[in-house]
Amino acid sequence: MADAPADTDALDPATLRRRVLERVRYEQSLGVDFVPRIRLAAPVAPTVAARPVTPTAVPLRPVVPARQPVAPVVRAPVQTMTVNANPGDKDTRWKDLEARAMGCVSCVLHQARTHVVFGTGNRNAQLVFVGEGPGPDEDMQGVPFVGKAGQLLDKIIGAMKLQREDVYLCNVVKCRPPGNRTPLPDEIAACSPFLAEQLELIAPKVIVALGGPAAKTLLHTEAGITALRGRWQSYKSIPVMPTYHPAFVLRTYTEEVRRQVWDDMKQVMAKLQ
Ligand code: URA
Repeated sequence: MADAPADTDALDPATLRRRVLERVRYEQSLGVDFVPRIRLAAPVAPTVAARPVTPTAVPLRPVVPARQPVAPVVRAPVQTMTVNANPGDKDTRWKDLEARAMGCVSCVLHQARTHVVFGTGNRNAQLVFVGEGPGPDEDMQGVPFVGKAGQLLDKIIGAMKLQREDVYLCNVVKCRPPGNRTPLPDEIAACSPFLAEQLELIAPKVIVALGGPAAKTLLHTEAGITALRGRWQSYKSIPVMPTYHPAFVLRTYTEEVRRQVWDDMKQVMAKLQ
């Protein structure tokens, strides 16, 4: 840009007019189509907290077209934020997510809980087991799958040549439904965002849905677990294996049910290879 003289009073009117026109054309070439009307400050001493002058948009009169074609204004690309750009972001998101779950009062289940049962295990796991909701033992300890069903799940995990610390365990609802009833649709809806974010952060290779409520929640289906089990499904492109809940296996401790669960886990092991 050309240098402007410091004192425009020194210019003759013709030169001043030419300079002003040059300036207007220059501004237009940058895409500026207004000039701010700036009120001259009153000749008083400036106060410390002077109010900023708000420029008023004044449409320009059309100016004489520029002789040279004006190069288009190249704007800097808009910066976009990358989620999970580094592991530090993940830690922050986990902390934030857990804190939100701990303080959650979004459904009635918070009223009777002893602990929020957020989830436990390896946050970089390849395999996530999703259950239905905490029972009395889990509610007391704040840890999923520590009761009788959890002990059977531990055996299943061991039979898969894995340890509990290798996998991640969580539930569809994080607070115990009273009397161990099945969580209601509005409770599942209120809690599902926590599960969704856990799964997003872990990004496992495989999810095992333990029982009907977990399968229905993850797969958005009304199909029963008997129809679903043993066949690969998908949650946001992650393979999901629905199988019977260990509590059901304990209640229906038949050779066939145990074999079916083991068949399902063999498919999971093969997928993890
Ligand atoms: N049943 C579940 O579904 N989850 C638990 O954490 C315990 C029992």
